[in-house]
Amino acid sequence: MIDNGFSIKETDKRMERLGVSGKDISAILVTHEHGDHVGGVARYARRYNIPVWASHGTGAMIKNIDSVQCFNSHKSFELGDISIEPVLVPHDAREPTQFVFRSNNLKLGVMTDTGSITQHMVDVLMDCDALLLECNYDRDMLLNGAYPESLKRRVMGDWGHLDNQQAIGLLQRLNTDRLQHLVLAHVSEKNNSHELVLDSVSQAIECDRAWLNVIDQDEGLPWCTLAG
Ligand SMILES: [Zn+2]
Ligand SMILES: [Zn+2]
Repeated sequence: MIDNGFSIKETDKRMERLGVSGKDISAILVTHEHGDHVGGVARYARRYNIPVWASHGTGAMIKNIDSVQCFNSHKSFELGDISIEPVLVPHDAREPTQFVFRSNNLKLGVMTDTGSITQHMVDVLMDCDALLLECNYDRDMLLNGAYPESLKRRVMGDWGHLDNQQAIGLLQRLNTDRLQHLVLAHVSEKNNSHELVLDSVSQAIECDRAWLNVIDQDEGLPWCTLAG
């Protein structure tokens, strides 16, 4: 499990929808300490006795838990038969990381909560078989929306979030030939729309809209299977 911002009840409901339970989870990886990512981690970990993993900086910010297993943000590590490569990202938290997972010669990239795109991100996300990528906001919707100025500046800043065009810019720098699934995530309910994300991404990378998945905040995403 990566991050958890939900109550135990809500998490259980979402897990059940996927046909799994907290007992099936072998580890929770925490990307950073913002509430929507860490708010539910400690209680869910305690409830099902799940070890929690995070960078040293993030680990120091996780409260109400006996111990956090800390990884070196610059080094890959293994959990079970999955190799995990942390990827440091520019975001306004202590030591935020996103991840690349490798197993059975397949590579999954998970990249949300980053305000800008680094060369390192491009390098590690190259040739993924599946990618979950942040499309947080549409620039015009954010600028003309109801967020206070300070929050607009935070979201748009280099340590904030990726807008649709930045996400597209990253996709265009990656080799997407191998991509079996592209999942667009962390989509703002106020400053973006699923339609806009689907339209702009499908046009930019010349793919069918139906091939793309946008995660709905309430519905989540069903299982996606990768063929080896
Ligand atoms: Zn977030
Ligand atoms: Zn965040």
